[in-house]
Amino acid sequence: MIVVMQHGATARQIADVIARIEQDGYKAHLSEGEERTIVGVVGESPTPLRQEHYETQPGVDKVVRITEAYKLASRTFHPATTLVPLNGTQVGGKKIPIIAGPCSVESREQIIETACAMLEAGATALRGGAFKPRTSPYSFQGHGEKGLQWLAEARDITGLPIVTEVMDASQVEMVCHYADVLQVGARNMQNFTLLNAVGQSQHPVLLKRGMSATVTDLLMSAEYILANGNTRVMVCERGIRTFETATRNTADINAIPVLKQKTHLPVVFDPSHATGKSEYVESLSLAAVAAGVDALIIEAHLDPANAMSDGRQSLTPEQLTKLVAKVRRVAEAVDRMA
Ligand code: PEP
Ligand code: MN
Repeated sequence: MIVVMQHGATARQIADVIARIEQDGYKAHLSEGEERTIVGVVGESPTPLRQEHYETQPGVDKVVRITEAYKLASRTFHPATTLVPLNGTQVGGKKIPIIAGPCSVESREQIIETACAMLEAGATALRGGAFKPRTSPYSFQGHGEKGLQWLAEARDITGLPIVTEVMDASQVEMVCHYADVLQVGARNMQNFTLLNAVGQSQHPVLLKRGMSATVTDLLMSAEYILANGNTRVMVCERGIRTFETATRNTADINAIPVLKQKTHLPVVFDPSHATGKSEYVESLSLAAVAAGVDALIIEAHLDPANAMSDGRQSLTPEQLTKLVAKVRRVAEAVDRMA
């Protein structure tokens, strides 16, 4: 349930509504929009919520039931798109930032050289995994903290903020120390201990959709992070498992407008894991921008043929430069910029 306050409701009236919610045994979540304040009622309590008790309180305009299972992630609760800070720019506004970089951080030289190439190609942020969730335990697992240090060095040189994966709750503090955005990978979308831990940090989180997760599952996972007090959450479509084998995953472009309608959280698209093949990455990036996405996360490598992971889907810096130019034209066509 949400309590929508009238235009110009006083701080006292808002405080009274919050006091009533707490008295009934629920938690109040304040969302102060430009137009009006919305107070969300979440949690469980033996006291039933009586809509009419709230409707008659001074300063209240109306009371609306949120029918979805997710509350804080719902656009009903927070009508304006949330802006997630990304080192001087934001995700969720007019600009569509492009996060680019290798699947894995392979060496100090590789990540620094790649960061410079990404900056030159027009990227806004650098991606790269130091902790890699690999299907096989025999595949390269990442350089761990050393990889994070190299990423931080690459940021110092280029100014590009760092997006990197955190695989376990015990690593959150360490990854926060080096990274600007915590990536929660598809395989960990329902690792609730990890979701609680990233929710307790105030670091921006890029939450990827699990390969067999529905849009609702994704938003329920986002809800965990929000319920822990971290409002800086982005949700990312990265392709889902279907019967189709021509591509690594199936890009669920539908999910972009659906998510934009259902949630106020910025929506990111990953064309690299969605297709698994570099030759399809540009087309899908353009489609995602046309569909209303707020940011792109793209894998790029200086030498894709010799990448330690996901080379087949990685663009060269030259290919990324061409993609950025085309993305800019489509962005302009839909009243955005890249
Ligand atoms: C990645 O970004 O390299 C990655 C492992 O992505 P996902 O979790 O979407 O598979
Ligand atoms: Mn990858």
